[in-house]
Amino acid sequence: MNTKRILVLCSGGDAPGMNAAIRAIVRTGSYHGIDVFGARLGYIGLINQDIFKMTPDSVAHCIQRGGTILKTGRTDEFKQKTTRQTIGQFLKKSEIDGLIVLGGDGSFRGATLLSQECSLHVIGIPCTIDNDIVGTDYTIGFDTARNTALNAIDKIRDTADSHNRNFLVEVMGGKTGFLALEVGIAGGAEFILIPEVDISIASLAQRIRAPRRKKLGSIIVVAEANEPGRSVRIAEQLQHYAELEYRVCILGHTQRGGAPSAWDRQVACVMGAKAIEAILAGESNKMTAMVHGSYRLVDFPSEHQAIKTLSDTSLLTLNDILCDIPPLTTQIS
Ligand code: ADP
Repeated sequence: MNTKRILVLCSGGDAPGMNAAIRAIVRTGSYHGIDVFGARLGYIGLINQDIFKMTPDSVAHCIQRGGTILKTGRTDEFKQKTTRQTIGQFLKKSEIDGLIVLGGDGSFRGATLLSQECSLHVIGIPCTIDNDIVGTDYTIGFDTARNTALNAIDKIRDTADSHNRNFLVEVMGGKTGFLALEVGIAGGAEFILIPEVDISIASLAQRIRAPRRKKLGSIIVVAEANEPGRSVRIAEQLQHYAELEYRVCILGHTQRGGAPSAWDRQVACVMGAKAIEAILAGESNKMTAMVHGSYRLVDFPSEHQAIKTLSDTSLLTLNDILCDIPPLTTQIS
């Protein structure tokens, strides 16, 4: 394939490591003699015809920065076929024949439609702190987010221990508990509440009150589960059912920002380069992925495929053991 002009954009939620991927795309493109263009604010940049040529210089000193130098965005306008047709004409006029999208499954769905309607080669790079994209074991940003949340938990533990206080720490994770589980285990949380496991607060209170080693100050990690701030409600319920006071700390968007970890930078460098190579090889409608520790090119998640959710809850059972929690069958006094 004689691709000479490739466009890159970020779409949906930002994730630490996006800049490292953009840098790899621009520099690998330059190595292969390709002109790389950037679009600002995701698909909004395509609607506004806001694209610009990127050079190896233009991505200097961004590998260590969180967020995205291209900015990202969401727009429902892009979901309309007529909008995409106008974009198709603009890309044709600009002689763009390849598109690399950094984002999640929603962004990839939009890219697939654009590719079908405008004969464009499209490759995705999975970026989200939730690590919930079907087809890849890892998404860029997850490692940084779990370390950011873990650092916060360690700090909260210092004050929890000093005052013998209990804390609910709310982490991101709308539909999936990958972040909460990993952060909870590593942070020594007493309980971890994830969207995939339904547990009533009354039964949680029973488990907290069960006879066991006396604890002074503990931490429960709560995934936001599409209800940001739900830990405030849970704290009130625990006051009622367990007669214990829990302070609430919502980590929110702190988990999205910050310098990417070494791992996220490395994955982003490799995936960025592989995305360029994939377009050069004539591939389309695929994403870079990590499967069992190897980098692969896989199909985009299908529209009917739900997001990846946590099915192996053995770590939750392990956490009960590590935190001296009696098994669920224990009689509660
Ligand atoms: P993510 O890529 O992180 O899953 P979103 O689902 O919010 O993020 O999608 C980001 C953007 O991708 C949307 O604002 C929209 O412009 C585009 N998009 C998402 N789903 C579709 C779709 N079904 N058809 C066309 N465009 C879509």
